[in-house]
Amino acid sequence: MSLIVQKYGGTSVGSIERIQHVASRVKQATDQGHSLVVVVSAMSGETDRLLGLAKAIQAVPAPRELDVLLSTGEQVTIALLSMALEAIGCPARSYTGAQVHMLTDSAHNKARIRDIDAARVRADLDAGRVVVVAGFQGVDEQGDITTLGRGGSDTSAVAMAAALKADECQIYTDVDGVYTTDPRIEPHARKLERITFEEMLEMASLGSKVLQIRAVEFAGKYRVPLRVLSSFTEGAGTLITFEDDTVEDAQIAGIAFARDEAKLTILGVPDQPGIAHRILGPVSNANIEVDMIVQNVAADQRTTDFTFTVHRNDYDKAMAILHDTCAGLNAREVLGDPAIVKISLVGVGMRSHAGIASRMFEALAVEGINIRMISTSEIKISVVVDEKYLELGVRSLHKAFGLDQAGEGKTT
Ligand code: ADP
Ligand code: ASP
Ligand code: MG
Repeated sequence: MSLIVQKYGGTSVGSIERIQHVASRVKQATDQGHSLVVVVSAMSGETDRLLGLAKAIQAVPAPRELDVLLSTGEQVTIALLSMALEAIGCPARSYTGAQVHMLTDSAHNKARIRDIDAARVRADLDAGRVVVVAGFQGVDEQGDITTLGRGGSDTSAVAMAAALKADECQIYTDVDGVYTTDPRIEPHARKLERITFEEMLEMASLGSKVLQIRAVEFAGKYRVPLRVLSSFTEGAGTLITFEDDTVEDAQIAGIAFARDEAKLTILGVPDQPGIAHRILGPVSNANIEVDMIVQNVAADQRTTDFTFTVHRNDYDKAMAILHDTCAGLNAREVLGDPAIVKISLVGVGMRSHAGIASRMFEALAVEGINIRMISTSEIKISVVVDEKYLELGVRSLHKAFGLDQAGEGKTT
């Protein structure tokens, strides 16, 4: 008998029928003798609907009030799932984040989990009940409701599994595992049986939203056995492993991409110590996260150009700041492009294989895709390209690296 934490995402609990289907799956596991904690998201579309209501009143709603509003989505699902379980003879009890003391910091809308008091959950499990917990939400030290950022129910589930020392944390979603890339973009994407924790961390941080990055970080820190599976079909899904034992000699585990990036350039800044700080200091003071940064070598020995990327939502704000900096530094000009995307190859196999970057650039060149920026680390290579090349870029790389080999198409 094991203790299992299961998490069901929005699509999996998107209607009464689907909630009943989840209930029958949960009951199946309890009938096999397992103890179950089930973390659920809001019904699909609900968080966006609530956000829309808030924005109809205020363009930038107060973060504290937004959390009070957004957390209601998950509260609906926990109650309905508990009822659905009781209705089929499976004793269950629902809890909000606050009720299970999912203690977070006070960073509303992007709070981090600090601690969970699992005593109440354990008591229910010992009494033979299924515990249904609202994902995505917590409570801070003042007792205020917080939320964990979009996709945060993944993190609630992993944190719950860590606190309970569960045997496995199973993330049930609308695909049957982690694929070589988003199967919505590349129909030939291949399901991975295993992916290393390190690769999953990169994939998530480079834009693959199948798992929230903080959930992967949490799983790594507390070594939570983590699996991604489908709530609609049977199958073993994808296991996130902690060993560095890549299957075969695969060089690339997968391709991640991030839409909604934007690029800003300041031309003709003096080539002196302290300039990067003068440019990026005000940007980070405005709480704008900067991703890639490139500074050209000064061609004329006196001035240089400086380019960086931000999330597209922050583009206008970053542009205004950069114009001020331009005037202050007597720089030549500010340029911007809000229609770019980032595509990344990820794989621990890169450590032992040379020439991956040049193969990547060749594959993009064959399609006439211009690379605007490049950044590399030990296990990833990212390029920034024009938004219109997102699909073509992902598909051509998928093919060039043999990820959609014949006969190994999508397994559902
Ligand atoms: P949930 O609501 O269950 O949390 P999400 O929409 O957050 O589901 O995440 C699942 C989605 O992630 C899939 O439908 C898929 O389009 C997307 N996705 C992106 N990259 C990948 C990948 N590499 N493998 C599988 N799914 C991916
Ligand atoms: N309901 C939240 C969202 O849509 C959290 C989650 O689903 O993980 O982002
Ligand atoms: Mg999700």
